[in-house]
Amino acid sequence: MRKFFRILALPLCLFAVFPGSLCAGPAAETIVPESPARAPLVFTVPESLVQGDILCVLARSPQANRIRGIFADLSGGDGKKVLSLGGFLLSPRGEAASAPNGGGAAPETGETWAAIGGISSVQAPGDYSLSLRAVCEGGEEEVFSASVRVLGRDFLGEDIPLNRAMSSLRADSDPRKAAESRELWELLVKTEASSVYHTGRLSPPVAGGFRESAFFGDRRTFLYTDGGKAASIHYGLDYATPRGTPVYAAGAGRVVMAKERVLTGFSVVIEHLPGVYSLYYHLDKIGVKPDQIVKTGEKIGESGFTGLATGPHLHWEVRAAANAVEPKNLLERALVPGE
Ligand SMILES: [Zn+2]
Repeated sequence: MRKFFRILALPLCLFAVFPGSLCAGPAAETIVPESPARAPLVFTVPESLVQGDILCVLARSPQANRIRGIFADLSGGDGKKVLSLGGFLLSPRGEAASAPNGGGAAPETGETWAAIGGISSVQAPGDYSLSLRAVCEGGEEEVFSASVRVLGRDFLGEDIPLNRAMSSLRADSDPRKAAESRELWELLVKTEASSVYHTGRLSPPVAGGFRESAFFGDRRTFLYTDGGKAASIHYGLDYATPRGTPVYAAGAGRVVMAKERVLTGFSVVIEHLPGVYSLYYHLDKIGVKPDQIVKTGEKIGESGFTGLATGPHLHWEVRAAANAVEPKNLLERALVPGE
C-alpha cells in the first residue's frame, strides 16, 4: 500500500520573504485582511512511486469556486522536467461548481482538483522534485513542493521470433504505420479537462480465468526471419484469449478511437480522465463507435488475432499523460487516491 501525506500549503504571498518566490496577487503585507482569512489549500501527493505507477496530485480548497487551475511538474535532480501536468476540477462538478461567487450561498463542500500522469517503466529510479502551483481567483497563487522517490522494479526479458509475414509487417516502412502512430500519440497527449468519467479502480477487460501471456514493461527483442533484431518495450498486459472472447470497458469513459490499425489490428481507445486512456488491441470485432459513452464492464468488442500478433490474445494497455502504466495496479487501486 502506498503512503500519501498531506501538507497544508500556505498562500504564496506569505513566502514572499524568501528569495525566488513570486507574489502574483496584490501586495499583501498586511496580515489582517478585511474579510476572514481563507484556509489554505491542502495538497495531497505521494511520498514514493514505483516505475509504472500513476502519479496523482490533489489540491483541495474548503471553498468552492476558488481554484482556477493547478499545475504539477516532476523534475529530476538535473532539473530536467519528467512530467508537466495541467490539472482538472475533480469535484464538485456540474452547476454547483460553476455558480458565480457571491451569487447566493456558496456550496459548503469545497472543491478538489487533480493532476494525473504516469511514471514510465524506463523512468530512472531516484529522488525527484514535485512542484505544484494552484492559480486561484483574483490571480492569487499557492505553491507547494515535495520530494518524490521513484523506485525501480524488475521487468521480464523475452525474445519473440517472428515469421516472414510478421517480420515484414513490423520492420517494413509504411506511411500508414507512421500516420497511425502520430494520430495515436496526438490523442494520448490530449487532456480535455471536462473528461471526468471514472476515478475509482478499473475492472478486468476480460472475464477471469485467462492466462496472462505477456506483462507490462517486458523488455522484448523481436527476431526477424532475415536475422535482424529490434528491441522494444511491451506497454500493456496480454491475456491469452480465444478469438471471440467478449472484451469489456475497464472503466466508464468516452470512446475516442475505434478503428483498424496496421500493427494493433482492430483497436479501441477509451478516455477515462483527462489524459488517462485504456487501449484494447488485436480485436476480432469492434462493438463501439467514436464518441460513444461507455459504462464499466460494457462490452466493447471481441478479442482476436488482428495486426501484429503471434496468436489470439487481448492486449490491454493504460496510458496517463501519454506514459504507459502498469494496468494490474489499477485493478486494485483507484485512479484517484481515496475515490
Ligand atoms: Zn501486448
